[in-house]
Amino acid sequence: MRISAPYKFVSKEFKKEHSAIRVNGQQVGGDDFVVMAGPCSVESERQIMETAEAVAAAGAKMLRGGAFKPRTSPYDFQGLELEGLKLLRKAKEATGLGVITEIMSDRDVGMVAEYADCMQVGARNMQNFALLKTLGGCGRPVLLKRGMSSTIKELLMSAEYIVAHGNPNVILCERGIRTFETATRNTCDIAAVPVLDELTHLPVILDPSHAAGKRSLIPALSRAAVAVGADGIIVEVHPCPEKAVSDGAQSLTLDGFRAMMKELQPYIRLWKEARVTEAAVA
Ligand code: PEP
Ligand code: MN
Repeated sequence: MRISAPYKFVSKEFKKEHSAIRVNGQQVGGDDFVVMAGPCSVESERQIMETAEAVAAAGAKMLRGGAFKPRTSPYDFQGLELEGLKLLRKAKEATGLGVITEIMSDRDVGMVAEYADCMQVGARNMQNFALLKTLGGCGRPVLLKRGMSSTIKELLMSAEYIVAHGNPNVILCERGIRTFETATRNTCDIAAVPVLDELTHLPVILDPSHAAGKRSLIPALSRAAVAVGADGIIVEVHPCPEKAVSDGAQSLTLDGFRAMMKELQPYIRLWKEARVTEAAVA
């Protein structure tokens, strides 16, 4: 079979049907709109446990939380590292939520894979090719975030690295790109979702938190993710955002998250109907 796209394994030409990827028993890219939620950084046992219980009760299926943090300043909080991974495991044991956490270096892949159900590659590492190659053999699904100045083609080429090195379980994430606009932290490229749907069989989720940078904008962007046919969202939630060590301004409160989940339900019902119709036509 001739495949003309430079990204072969991840292209629609290679595989027409949408891929569903299993993470801790939950399919991403299947019949559920999957919500992943939690703090930007794991900060303390109390913070992660309280957040995990609240987001699970509100309907999230995965817990996010960074134990290794890529910070612009070397003087900012860098993450609890192994201690953070252990706290994530504790939160998983208490709630059943799958854990997604960032991996920054190929040296840490073994350690993080022991604790994570899904390995998150952050925007800053989308083209860390040594890391991508190592993740090909990590035995865990990977969430690959789009680099802040990367094209959709570059995102797909990075996904191709992971798949070509042996790991077909890659989920893509649009998290906003850098533009001239300053009203939002990044510019949410909502069109990336349907564009990716035309080019790849891999699941695609949206990160409204890093795209917007501002709490008040998260519900609208999350609705947009549902409407445009994303497979889910990954959203930052903190029990006390004003005290968060990172990304407090864009983190929803527990109440804010609960309200958003409730408000999303009718949209998710329509999303499910569309999925069923799509599957019947295909
Ligand atoms: C994060 O998820 O906290 C994060 C650092 O995201 P990004 O890599 O998209 O900036
Ligand atoms: Mn963050």
